Amino acid sequence: MENESLDQRIRKIQGSLPPHVLLVAAAKTRTAVEVQTAIASGITSIGYNYVQEAGVMRQSLEEWEKQEAPHKVQWHLIGHLQRNKAKRAVELFDMIETIDSIRIAETVNRQCADIGKVMPVLIEINSGQESNKSGVPPDEVISLARQIAELPHIKIQGLMTMGPRFGDPEEARPYFRMTKKLFDQLAAENMQHIEMIHLSMGMSNSYRQAIEEGANIVRIGTKLFGARNEL
Ligand SMILES: *Cc1c(COP(=O)(O)O)cnc(C)c1O
Repeated sequence: MENESLDQRIRKIQGSLPPHVLLVAAAKTRTAVEVQTAIASGITSIGYNYVQEAGVMRQSLEEWEKQEAPHKVQWHLIGHLQRNKAKRAVELFDMIETIDSIRIAETVNRQCADIGKVMPVLIEINSGQESNKSGVPPDEVISLARQIAELPHIKIQGLMTMGPRFGDPEEARPYFRMTKKLFDQLAAENMQHIEMIHLSMGMSNSYRQAIEEGANIVRIGTKLFGARNEL
């Protein structure tokens, strides 16, 4: 893997995914050159955990994105959103994958109203019910979705989960399966203003299992860009 270039790794992974699966490149800690190379190699969606870091990157790539990028890039927020960052987040991102409370949803709705935008969002599920992780508990997702569906500047388009981290990704399957079940339940509710089309789960070590369990968005960092120097 170390001997392959970023471009080769991206094309290989991209080529191995079923055509209905969207690859989001999880770009935290990567340089502008790496992110630019990823986009030039065919990546269409970039995920960031932090609003601030995404802002810096979008600024560095602004001219290139406008003039030279081979295609339009979709920017996804994949980390927890704090309410005091919502204004900047709605300017920067094309999708927020991590909505997990009515309070944050209302704040995003208000900020979107101010700039005349409708934000596609995913509801993040805390599928492992881990106290230190963000996301809504599985048994609260339907009532949360009902409340969010009333907000005119937000459009629910599916679910996202991280799930507990395991050395063996097979152990993540029950969490992916449970999230897919919630996804199907929500879809069956046929709520107005909700369009259940995206299921975002799986990372470098677990994306194959996630796809088998129904994911159609995978968020991959390490396997594209190489190991991170964790902050
Ligand atoms: C970092 C990150 C990923 C990618 O993780 P890798 O193991 O590097 O592929 C995916 N999703 C989220 C929310 C992340 O923070």
